[in-house]
Amino acid sequence: MVGEKTSSMKIQNYIDGKFLNPIADQWIDNYNPSKGEVYGQIPNSTKEDIELAVTAAKKAFPVWSNTTLNERSEILSKIAKGIFDKLPELAKAESKDNGKPLSLATKIDIPRASSNFQFFADAITQFPSEAHESIGLNAINFTLRQPIGIVGCISPWNLPLYLFTWKIAPALAAGNCVVAKPSEVTPMTAFLLGEICNKAGLPSGVLNIVHGLGQTTGQAIIEHANIKAISFTGGTATGAHIAKTAAPMFKKLSLELGGKNPNIIFADCDYEKMLSTTLRSSFANQGQICLCGSRIFVEENIYERFKKDFIRKVSQLTIGNPFDEDSDIGALVSKNHLEKVKSYIDIVEEEGGKVLYGGEKVIVSGSENGYYLQPTIIEVSNNDCKLNQEEIFGPVVTIMPFKNEEEVLKLANNVKYGLSATLWTNNLNRTMKMSKQLQVGIVWVNTWLMRDLRTPFGGVKASGVGREGGFEALRFFTEPKNVCISYD
Ligand code: NDP
Repeated sequence: MVGEKTSSMKIQNYIDGKFLNPIADQWIDNYNPSKGEVYGQIPNSTKEDIELAVTAAKKAFPVWSNTTLNERSEILSKIAKGIFDKLPELAKAESKDNGKPLSLATKIDIPRASSNFQFFADAITQFPSEAHESIGLNAINFTLRQPIGIVGCISPWNLPLYLFTWKIAPALAAGNCVVAKPSEVTPMTAFLLGEICNKAGLPSGVLNIVHGLGQTTGQAIIEHANIKAISFTGGTATGAHIAKTAAPMFKKLSLELGGKNPNIIFADCDYEKMLSTTLRSSFANQGQICLCGSRIFVEENIYERFKKDFIRKVSQLTIGNPFDEDSDIGALVSKNHLEKVKSYIDIVEEEGGKVLYGGEKVIVSGSENGYYLQPTIIEVSNNDCKLNQEEIFGPVVTIMPFKNEEEVLKLANNVKYGLSATLWTNNLNRTMKMSKQLQVGIVWVNTWLMRDLRTPFGGVKASGVGREGGFEALRFFTEPKNVCISYD
């Protein structure tokens, strides 16, 4: 609820190296989803706060963009270390804010946020630019890769610090100043990052973190004339809105959007590895990862076996308070999101499907008001139903059998999204053929979510435009300028 000041923990904006209340003194309640209760407040920032952040970034840009690569790299390394040193505190904050198991935040989210900074601290020292000699014309061209200026970074709630830093780190490494907004649903670790940056010696104004609602604070970022590029991760509808707003202003855009990823299982796969990985790719982070394999297609000769084994494995998962060590599945991120996910389970029958396992909300003892849902398996009879076409983004997967490669390729590609696909097979020819024909940005074969930060990351179709990761991100956050020198 906006406007009330009910609770103790107040987050502030981080602008020009200082922690500030929002200018209009408007606040938003911040929820702990595992308890379903308000535990703090965050700024409901307005255009005026964004203006302050842009002014700070503008002032900082001439110096930051001219620091040596070694200096920049050192500061980013110190931020990486600062994150790592605070791992337990940050993991607890992430788990409380988001509802994800503490074990997951400790093993994945926070270490990866630290790696994001370390990776780009190193990458910027190795980032090459091109030269082209025009032989016979007596000319040499070289390409300057200059920072863009002030850039906007907007991230979602599912992997809060992980995705926030995945944008900020390359933007800063490339010499830009940043105005960033985390999701208002999970702002806590972004808030804690400010102090880490100050301690690491990041000059004031180079990074500014402004909290608030997407439709106001976020909107003020995407509309601001001095913010020249937007790196956004979030839903496809928001991405389309951002593209529409930013295109007439000729802003550079990187849009990482939704997914409805196929998990394709052939009978010749390594069955046990596939089964345990499929459990993760279906329900890790309560299924709230854009890369989760939410449509499972199984070759018909192992379909019944898979169905039985998968249900057995899923029934062994423990749903519980994220702070309990044995919880495999924590809370969904918000009441609204829980209701949205549940609304898909409510239409299973009318969409021609059948719930094979789960489907019910769960009351967790001691956390009775938290937003818990059983991991849910739905058998569908066709790929055209809403359950297979719309992004549910929760602990819900569908399964259906297929006959052969041609059929499953059609099923996999017949969707508006194109983020990732997982393929389980030991047939090399099939691997090559299908990898080429799957309409996605990322294919995992006999694995899932194995990441090498040098690789291009992103989707096609309604899953986005542009790529993050490695030099792709550094290219996005720089403007290439060709210089042609003629000589006698
Ligand atoms: P949203 O699109 O609702 O929000 C993403 C971010 O955009 C939030 O910070 C949000 O603020 C902000 N925002 C909302 N409206 C505007 C606006 N008009 N102008 C500027 N910013 C705005 O996504 P969710 O947070 O719900 O995240 C879930 C989605 O993210 C899923 O679709 C998922 O697939 C996708 N995603 C994609 C990934 C990828 O790499 N392709 C990775 C992870 C998630 P606020 O929260 O305050 O509204």
